[in-house]
Amino acid sequence: MEPANVAVIGAGTMGNGIAHVLALSKFSVNIIDVRRDAVERGMGYIRHNMDRQVNKGLLTEDQKNEALGRISQSTSLEGGVRDADFVIEAATENIKVKKDVFHTLGEICKPETILASNTSSISITDLASATSKPDKVIGMHFFNPVPVMKLIEIVRGLATSNETYESVRNLAYKLDKVPVEVQDYPGFVSNRILMPMINEAVFCAMENVATPEAIDTVMKLGMNHPMGPLALADLIGLDVCLDIMNVLFHGTGDSKYRPCPLLKKMVAAGYLGRKTGKGFYTYEMRNQ
Ligand code: NAD
Repeated sequence: MEPANVAVIGAGTMGNGIAHVLALSKFSVNIIDVRRDAVERGMGYIRHNMDRQVNKGLLTEDQKNEALGRISQSTSLEGGVRDADFVIEAATENIKVKKDVFHTLGEICKPETILASNTSSISITDLASATSKPDKVIGMHFFNPVPVMKLIEIVRGLATSNETYESVRNLAYKLDKVPVEVQDYPGFVSNRILMPMINEAVFCAMENVATPEAIDTVMKLGMNHPMGPLALADLIGLDVCLDIMNVLFHGTGDSKYRPCPLLKKMVAAGYLGRKTGKGFYTYEMRNQ
């Protein structure tokens, strides 16, 4: 069955991007955040990003207005998800927050509602254990910026049913994305490969093997990466990189995933990358 109503939980970077692509693909979307200002900011981003698509000729003004008309907003989880056929959780990357959300979803959603998480690194099997219907729980890992990036990692928890998997894969196609099936292991595929590379680049900087600019140039010109690993770490957020390294380290028990001491030190100092204006590079802060 195709979902008609989709609830997106969390209106931050990823939640507003996910609501954006759903609305453009003609789904009714309810975007829910515990913070009213976050919902308003998220809606502002969606309008701004759709305006950019109109200016680039990718969307007509009418299509934009119709899509915006399909999005409703809420600050209450209980009220926002009751009628949802499909929920995509994109709340803060914190296991307690997410488990609380999944527990509530299991209690109040319709029995057939699929519960997907956009988590970058938290175990889907663990989230599923907080609900009464683990067969309906799955990972749907979008990439940033959601309207641009084609990939969705679909993460099967231990109890995820084939029916749930197939519904999510079909939804990914409807959104004009490319789904890739992965199993529930720490970091899935994307972050298990990407984060150790970033972490190793931080070790190179810490050991003065080269300057951050030189490290990034080696990876851009030598490996044809569109962006160097340290510039990418600044974009992702050094706190997020550290959290994911910790998930890999603790989830596997393998010392090869130990976070670089310089990464820890920079996070402790509040040098988180673009969002704080300082990371491996410095950035001009601008209002969102
Ligand atoms: P963000 O901090 O921009 O937004 C998170 C939002 O969740 C905030 O607005 C917060 O108010 C809201 N929130 C917190 N608790 C809530 C609750 N109980 N109910 C409803 N809303 C709640 O974070 P983000 O970067 O959008 O990340 C969201 C999720 O997506 C995380 O799991 C993250 O790992 C994942 N993710 C992030 C990226 C990225 O590049 N930022 C990429 C892929 C996946």
